[in-house]
Amino acid sequence: MRLFLIKLKKIIFLPTNKLIYQQNNMRTNVVAGNWKMNKTIEEGIQLVKEIQQLLKTYPVTRSMESIKIILSPPFTLLKIISDLLKETPFINLAAQNCHSEEKGAFTGEISVGMIKSAGASYVIIGHSERRTYFNETDALLAKKIKVVLSNGLLPIYCCGEKLQERNAGVYFEVVKNQISEGLFHLPPGEFSKVVIAYEPVWAIGTGLNATPEQAEEMHMYIRSLIEEKYDIDVATDTSIIYGGSCNAKNARELFSNPDVDGGLIGGASLIAGDFVQIIHSA
Ligand code: PEP
Repeated sequence: MRLFLIKLKKIIFLPTNKLIYQQNNMRTNVVAGNWKMNKTIEEGIQLVKEIQQLLKTYPVTRSMESIKIILSPPFTLLKIISDLLKETPFINLAAQNCHSEEKGAFTGEISVGMIKSAGASYVIIGHSERRTYFNETDALLAKKIKVVLSNGLLPIYCCGEKLQERNAGVYFEVVKNQISEGLFHLPPGEFSKVVIAYEPVWAIGTGLNATPEQAEEMHMYIRSLIEEKYDIDVATDTSIIYGGSCNAKNARELFSNPDVDGGLIGGASLIAGDFVQIIHSA
C-alpha cells in the first residue's frame, strides 16, 4: 500500500487502486432535515421545540464547526422557526427551493432575498422531486445556484440517478452530468460553499436505502470529479451528504464511510427523536 501525505490530507492508494480521500479537520458534517410539504405552523413549532429539547438533553459534544444541523421546513414556517432558533443558534435554517430570478412578475414564487430576510442561510437546489414534478433542468439549477450564492446564502445541491438509470449501468454518467452542468460553472471560491447531496431517486421515500458500499462508491466518484475540475484541496473539503431512506437505524453505518459526510433526511426528519439520533450518528 502506497501512502502519501499532502498537507494535512491523506490519500491512500489501496491495492485495488481505489482512491480514498481521508476526512481532514476541514470537512464539515451536515445533517439536514427536509420536511417537504409537511407541517402546519402549529405542527412545525412543536417539532422544532421537541428537537431543541432533545438536543438540550442529549447535546452534541463535538465542535459546532465540524457539524452543521439544518432544518428545511416549508416557506410558511421559515420566519417563525428562525425566531425559535435564536435560542439554539447552532441549528441552521434552509429553504427547500427558490426562484432563479431576484424579483419580478412570477406569481406564486419565492425569491432568495425573501428567503434570506426570513432568516434562512441555506437553500436546497435540485431536489429530485423538483426535477421530476416541476421539470427543473440542470441549466435552470445552475442559475438558481448562482442567485443563491450571489445573495450570500449557501446551496445544498441534489443529484442522483433514477432506478432505470442504475439498472442500465449509466448512474455515474447521470450524476456526472448533473454536477458538471449544475455546479462546474462556479469558480473554486464559490464552489467551496456548496454542499452536495447524493440522493438516488430510487431510495427517496421508498424505505430502500443505498447500501453503504453504493453510497461510498458514488461519493468517492463525485469527489474525484471535483478534484479533476478544481483541485485536491477543494475535493477534500467539500461536504458530500447522502439522502434516500436514511433513518435512525441505518444512519451510523452510512455515515461511517470515509466520503459520506452526513445526510439529507426526509421522512425521518419529521420525528424529533429519530432526527436527533441521526444527528448523533454523524
Ligand atoms: C429527501 O426527500 O431528500 C429524502 C432523502 O427523503 P427520505 O429520507 O424520506 O427518503
